[in-house]
Amino acid sequence: MVTFTFYGGVNEIGGNKILLDDRGTKVFLDFGMSFSRRGKYFEEFLNPRTANGIGDFLEMGLLPDIPGIYRTDLLTHLGRKPEEPVVSGVLLSHAHADHANYISFLHKDIPIYCGETCKRILDAVAEQSTRDLENEVVDFRLRPLHRSQYKIPPVIRKFHTFTTGKTVRIDSLEIQPLHVDHSVPGAYGFIIYTSEGALIYTGDLRMHGLHADMTDDFVSAAIQSRPVAMITEGTRIDKKRTNESEKKIYQDSKKKIHQCKTLSLVDFNFKDVDRFTTFYTIAKDLGKTLVINFKHACFLEQYHRDKKLKVPPVTDPSLALLKPKRLTGTYKDEDYVDAYIKKRLDYKNILTAADITKNPFKYMVVLNFWYFSDLIDLQPKKGVYIHSLSEPFNEEMEISYERMRNWLTHFDIEFFQSHCSGHINGDDLKELITTVHPKTLYPIHTEHPQLFKNLKGKITRVKEGKTYKL
Ligand SMILES: [Zn+2]
Repeated sequence: MVTFTFYGGVNEIGGNKILLDDRGTKVFLDFGMSFSRRGKYFEEFLNPRTANGIGDFLEMGLLPDIPGIYRTDLLTHLGRKPEEPVVSGVLLSHAHADHANYISFLHKDIPIYCGETCKRILDAVAEQSTRDLENEVVDFRLRPLHRSQYKIPPVIRKFHTFTTGKTVRIDSLEIQPLHVDHSVPGAYGFIIYTSEGALIYTGDLRMHGLHADMTDDFVSAAIQSRPVAMITEGTRIDKKRTNESEKKIYQDSKKKIHQCKTLSLVDFNFKDVDRFTTFYTIAKDLGKTLVINFKHACFLEQYHRDKKLKVPPVTDPSLALLKPKRLTGTYKDEDYVDAYIKKRLDYKNILTAADITKNPFKYMVVLNFWYFSDLIDLQPKKGVYIHSLSEPFNEEMEISYERMRNWLTHFDIEFFQSHCSGHINGDDLKELITTVHPKTLYPIHTEHPQLFKNLKGKITRVKEGKTYKL
């Protein structure tokens, strides 16, 4: 008998946690955090308490309270008995937080199966972020963390990596991971050969990106498997097909930057290697230097090691690193305590804001809103700011957005929006579903499950915590 239970990703964008059970072999499909659910109770200065370990997450429903999956140290801290793991692994579709981050809470003996590139990204995330309970995917510190235990090294989680088309075996289950195009490299959809037939899990994907052919590969294999069921993402089921594309971003942004007589600023998510390549290419084509920060360098170095991604080394002549102002503000080596900065201080292409202000026209600085205080040093009067991220879709983002616009007005910087989504639009998705033709469809990762209703075949609107039989 095959069953699956949805513990997250239901009527919300992300937070996917699906427990699949085939004759006793249990596997999670993703184990992500849900931003919307977290945002229902928590905000910037009100966070789940590390001091209460897993307790706050269970109480507020950020994690499902199911036996045999969580870390021994966290259960003990909560006053519960430790539990042997009952799950044989997590099949992780890609490295976005809403699919990966709550792996942080899982038992150390539950191995993670993910793409090679996905693991590299998780390593880059771990290198440049501050450790906290929600961000311990690749390794974790035993809690509670007493001062006397600071020297005890973290527990390293077990990872098994794969590439596209290779078969993965988890106990009695055979799984075929297939690459898909998404706004992060190393993203996969899965064909899971259960005892009741093939089950498809899309993860997150799209048809309008640079690598639509990868999604095509997935779709072809999915058709051939004659699926009995498909669990699909539906982030943008309410959106029509448009002319959005990576190429359009290249063309529009290049034009804007070319017209700019002084400093150009660009903002995009560094997990999106295609977007990096777009702006890197613009910089090269216009004879400019793309200036990144030390956090970006952690990602870039991981990408560069992955030959398939064709990303330049950090030492590339069209790239430079912006040295942040820390502690004394005098750029002395001792000002830098973060390991990811310290180990890179001897790089030859490090610049300060003062170097850039001498010849601002020569540079394109990658600058996120959270680092906008750097504008005070960069003095980008009459510059351009390319916002290559999604537009605000909730109240909190609106407030930050307005603040961002105030900064731009203050420095007389032109704002330019240029972005394309990581998710498939409604038209393409309906076409994909019709082509794959699963017997039953389970839409998740969507705030509009009702919009799937007019498709052919059986459509099941899933309920959280409910178990479905294949
Ligand atoms: Zn994603």
